[in-house]
Amino acid sequence: MTDRYEVIVVGGGMVGAATACALAHGGIKVALLDRFNPERQWPAEPVDIRVSALTKASQNILEMLGAWPGMVQRGVCAYRDMRVWDASADGELHFDCADTEFNELGHLVENRVTVAALWDALDTLPSATCITPAIVAGMQLNDNGRLVKLQDGRSLEADLVIAADGRESALRAMVGIDITGWDYHQDGLVATVTTEMSHQFTAWQRFLDEGPLAFLPLKNGQCSIVWTLSTDTAKSYLALADEDFLQVLEQASGGILGKMLAVGPRAAFPLRFQYANRYIDERFALTGDAAHAMHPLAGQGANAGLLDAAAIAELVIQTRQERRPLSSSRFLRRYERWRKGDNLMMMASMDIINKTYSVTSPPFASLRSAGMNWVNNTAMVKAYFNHYAMGLRDDLPKLAKGQICW
Ligand SMILES: Cc1cc2nc3c(=O)[nH]c(=O)nc-3n(C[C@H](O)[C@H](O)[C@H](O)COP(=O)(O)OP(=O)(O)OC[C@H]3O[C@@H](n4cnc5c(N)ncnc54)[C@H](O)[C@@H]3O)c2cc1C
Repeated sequence: MTDRYEVIVVGGGMVGAATACALAHGGIKVALLDRFNPERQWPAEPVDIRVSALTKASQNILEMLGAWPGMVQRGVCAYRDMRVWDASADGELHFDCADTEFNELGHLVENRVTVAALWDALDTLPSATCITPAIVAGMQLNDNGRLVKLQDGRSLEADLVIAADGRESALRAMVGIDITGWDYHQDGLVATVTTEMSHQFTAWQRFLDEGPLAFLPLKNGQCSIVWTLSTDTAKSYLALADEDFLQVLEQASGGILGKMLAVGPRAAFPLRFQYANRYIDERFALTGDAAHAMHPLAGQGANAGLLDAAAIAELVIQTRQERRPLSSSRFLRRYERWRKGDNLMMMASMDIINKTYSVTSPPFASLRSAGMNWVNNTAMVKAYFNHYAMGLRDDLPKLAKGQICW
């Protein structure tokens, strides 16, 4: 027997779970599939190494979806300042929430916290069905919509399938959507560290020759680090004994947080610039990392994905409210126009910053620093960058503005 839904969302990470949650708030009969059932509870320590800086726009989405209280209860850390500086010259940028109308610039949250709170919210919504473990083995178009076949033999059918199955999206390949991109030959090394000095609820980022090193504040006083390194260096740093790693980290930090006292497990993620050439196909849409993977230096990947989630949900709900069929390609084309340009702009900005900081020649470094200091001292330009980084741009989906879309 084939179960029938209006929408099937494949991938229950931050983006897919947010998409399904928004659709279910709008009364859409939605199935969320993931190959794993996400954990909802864990011991207070240690902090997970996968942490994201979430913008104000993302917070608005998560609040509207009813997930934010569950996130706060599990632990989020507000950061009020962001300090960025160049290790090879005197360029410096300082963003302060006091220059905005908000009490913080954003929040640092373990990815598992966001996912668990969204799945908790989904449990309360009658039109949502979560199916795990569920691995999609195949998908085809038929007269009624898209038929999704699972590896265990079950099949489901829907008017529309939304893929949020991550950077290596199997669904994107099944539909035949090509990608454009390249490897950075860099890894993002992540770990949780204990530092001698307080993080002061500040996100610190030091640009070094191989890439930026970020210290992101956590609620328990520790910092989550994201260190962009060449693939070879990352590999060698993963192999170091803890005390040797702490020594190289302390040196790389420029002593900004004093001595590095302890480090937890380390992992490195290969970095890619990658975008799907199309976001849509017949009765099909891509969201999140399945549509775009960007350099993590400004922590925007999940934030961009949450905007995709809010946008596609708003358009599906609107289409349904106008009594138009979800087989229509009109709202899908609107979704692609709405999100692809914004995502490409963000990806290109990250790419340019990464390339700018990988040039080590002293005259170029001086010029770069002069640019940073100019931005730092020019209130209007700085305010623009600050709002952009907080996700507060024009043309946001309703949920990102703190408005309901159902
Ligand atoms: C080092 C590093 C630091 C980062 N820091 C930040 C940050 O500070 N801020 C930020 O906004 N972003 C950050 N990002 C990016 C962010 O982590 C990603 O953009 C985000 O996790 C993407 O979420 P997603 O839901 O699209 O995909 P994923 O998190 O990859 O989720 C995909 C889901 O799909 C499921 N799945 C996959 N295939 C199938 C299948 N065939 N069938 C069923 N289920 C399937 C998986 O189990 C998974 O649950 C960072 C990334 C890295 C590497």
